[in-house]
Amino acid sequence: MKALQYRTIGAAPEVVTVPDPEPGPGQVLLKVTAAGVCHSDIAVMSWPAEGFPYELPLTLGHEGVGTVAALGAGVSGLAEGEAVAVYGPWGCGTCAKCAEGKENYCLRADALGIRPPGLGAPGSMAEYLLVDDPRHLVPLDGLDPVAAVPLTDAGLTPYHAIKRALPRLVPGSTAVVIGAGGLGHVAIQLLRALTPARVVALDVSEDKLRLAREVGAHETVLSDAGAAAAVRDLTGGLGAEAVFDFVGVEPTVAVAAAVAAVEGEISLVGIGGAALPVGFGRLPFEVSVSSPYWGSRGELVEVLALARSGALSVHTETFTLDEAPLAYERLHAGTINGRAVILPGA
Ligand code: NAD
Ligand code: ZN
Ligand code: ZN
Repeated sequence: MKALQYRTIGAAPEVVTVPDPEPGPGQVLLKVTAAGVCHSDIAVMSWPAEGFPYELPLTLGHEGVGTVAALGAGVSGLAEGEAVAVYGPWGCGTCAKCAEGKENYCLRADALGIRPPGLGAPGSMAEYLLVDDPRHLVPLDGLDPVAAVPLTDAGLTPYHAIKRALPRLVPGSTAVVIGAGGLGHVAIQLLRALTPARVVALDVSEDKLRLAREVGAHETVLSDAGAAAAVRDLTGGLGAEAVFDFVGVEPTVAVAAAVAAVEGEISLVGIGGAALPVGFGRLPFEVSVSSPYWGSRGELVEVLALARSGALSVHTETFTLDEAPLAYERLHAGTINGRAVILPGA
């Protein structure tokens, strides 16, 4: 089958032919319908050889949707041809975190060498994907595969971060979304669907700010040296009850710190590598700072249910598998509006 692989440190990913996978006991083979392109892959492909955590070559793609092609020995409860979304942050399934469905925080994944598809295990940018266990599949139940595939990460990750902040996002509150890209443009819609908060979106690109307004941001602010002052002005000087940074570089974490309200919450979701100093006098009183990772199995079920209700409109641009390297180039250049989605069957 054809697959998009990251093969050499620092080089662009390549479309290659690899053996067709076959499901072993307990596994499920999917024919991939759609695979999402996440900025985290660009971060992975920028890491140096020293300390690189995964084996190469690595088939990319940690957002996946497909149809059941074959079941390994002992797997039941799934029908061939059934359309499913893949829960990506695979865990052991039995530790205390996994028992709560929080496989993203599995306590044993590292020790057992369990890796998510596309981030260690072979990913979804291929004609077929091996899924380690049927519990990592959620039925699409009528959702369009292209619109649904970004929800497995670009939807699930902000959903998890926003759900934690819900008690703060009461009427009259403000939520700030920094970076209105793949994750950010879904975050804006999640905030509108789940909270009465006023949503302020920041980005460096006018195109992204236009998309942010289209999908429900009440206010948009260009992310430049004046951004923090502009956001504070919009909140009458009080700041925002919740700030979601989907970039995570020095200037954006500085904005996040500068616009948080007393007792506010800052979620550093972007993996741009910047740190935010926490300590007395560094931030307004009692601001909470966290760096969440992906979401739980239950939360993916919830995000897909929310999409079925019609509350989410994910903006996508589709590419064939042969065009996938171009999709990464475009994402790197900042010219993808919403999420790029690869169609391995096209
Ligand atoms: P994306 O490229 O689609 O979106 C990033 C957006 O940020 C773009 O619209 C870009 O114009 C904007 N941006 C860049 N610099 C900015 C700045 N200084 N101020 C404001 N906006 C700026 O990327 P994505 O796929 O949505 O991923 C967003 C980030 O989240 C990445 O760092 C990614 O690695 C990370 N991520 C983290 C998790 C997690 O579990 N923590 C999960 C998925 C993605
Ligand atoms: Zn991702
Ligand atoms: Zn576990």
